[in-house]
Amino acid sequence: MSTHAVIDPATATTFAEVEMADLAATDAAIERAHAASASWRAVAPGERARLLRAFASVVDAHVEELAALEVRNAGHTLGNARWEAGNVRDCLNYYSATPERLFGRQIPVPGGIDVTFHEPLGVVGIIVPWNFPMPIMAWGMAPALAAGNTVVLKPAELTPLTAVRIGELALEAGLPEGVLTVVPGEGPVVGERFVTHPLVRKVCFTGSTAVGKRIMAGCADQVKRVTLELGGKSANIVFADADVAAAAASAPYAVFDNAGQDCCARSRILVERSAYDEFLGRLETAVAGMRVTNPADDDASEMGPLISALQRDRVQAHVDAAQVAFTGSVPDLPGFWVPPTVALTEDTTAPIWREEVFGPVVAVMPFDDEAHAVALANDSDYGLSGSIFTRDLGRALRVARGVESGNLSVNSHSAVRYWTPFGGFKQSGLGRELGPDAPEAFTETKNVFIADA
Ligand code: NAD
Repeated sequence: MSTHAVIDPATATTFAEVEMADLAATDAAIERAHAASASWRAVAPGERARLLRAFASVVDAHVEELAALEVRNAGHTLGNARWEAGNVRDCLNYYSATPERLFGRQIPVPGGIDVTFHEPLGVVGIIVPWNFPMPIMAWGMAPALAAGNTVVLKPAELTPLTAVRIGELALEAGLPEGVLTVVPGEGPVVGERFVTHPLVRKVCFTGSTAVGKRIMAGCADQVKRVTLELGGKSANIVFADADVAAAAASAPYAVFDNAGQDCCARSRILVERSAYDEFLGRLETAVAGMRVTNPADDDASEMGPLISALQRDRVQAHVDAAQVAFTGSVPDLPGFWVPPTVALTEDTTAPIWREEVFGPVVAVMPFDDEAHAVALANDSDYGLSGSIFTRDLGRALRVARGVESGNLSVNSHSAVRYWTPFGGFKQSGLGRELGPDAPEAFTETKNVFIADA
């Protein structure tokens, strides 16, 4: 075991230490989860539902504490951090309905009766990134537990605190030991072990596409089930017939929220040429008005710091190589700050247009017509999210059907709602989280045929 310093990214100061699991501790956690598996899957459905609701209630009672931790650890705004903690509660409540409604089917067949069962997989390993530690934890954990699996969960090295606390709250709520085990540690140690350990039956990974590919290859060895939620370079498409003022006013939120460290960030804005100048003028006003401050000191902050010096330097390198039109402000603090930045390009090969920056940087490009907009949106290895602004419903539907992306919003930037499926096309991922079907992805379907006597 070693310890890892947890840093406040707004001020670049250490404020906590967390013990990092080594291989032996990871194996022990997986074995404990396996040992808890048989009794957890045997818990009566109503009782498992009650325990999940109890877990949700305990999280609810700690929303302020969890939010304050995330403001400090991840530099999130207070409003976002409250939403994130509340999302853990909401996911647990939503999937508390699952144990009593995970229906199999009775299928008409000749010669007997045929029934299907959804059986839990066993131990599920969940690997979480640093950008949204709490929601991403919940999206895997809640349906996995509800479907009768036990969970080992590895938070990101940079942001382990809320996951560790939520693990404690699970015990406080009455979940049996071993049902949810939070294992802070390094990706190549703990995360890799989830991939290679034969008792872990599924890996849910959210993070970079590069690591996701490695995890998928590792899982192939045991044909291990895997869900991947990876990067994005999503398009925000603004047609001239839209409410351009509303589109420009909301565009900063769609990309600079969480300082752009959001897999759903609409980091490419496509604007119909006839509305381009008006849109840019309005966007400049909106960006200039953004309140970029230390969220730990300012409850009204709209954008905080980046997560680390490394991330700031990566983002800054992208900015230095781009044609910057205008930026917002940053506070004079020693932490990891980059202002909201708007770049212009008409070059579809430019790195700022193609690569996921994962920072507060957006590239804006004009387009000529509907077909051009769809072609530009689809000219990407990614396909996670996207927005379409138009007053023409027919066009909205045509474009939504044409864009290769898992989650699209019309006249809105809403991307993630726990009631609806979430996930990516192409290199943005594999499988879907959330929505009514998520629990089934944590089960094996077993078919049983009973012959007529
Ligand atoms: P990352 O891939 O470096 O790390 C993600 C997690 O994987 C961390 O917990 C890390 O410790 C672990 N990890 C690293 N190497 C590993 C290995 N060899 N084996 C197993 N686990 C390993 O990503 P990051 O920098 O933390 O997060 C940013 C990326 O995540 C961005 O690309 C972003 O788009 C993506 N992301 C995607 C979604 C989504 O839902 N699609 C959500 C959030 C973030």
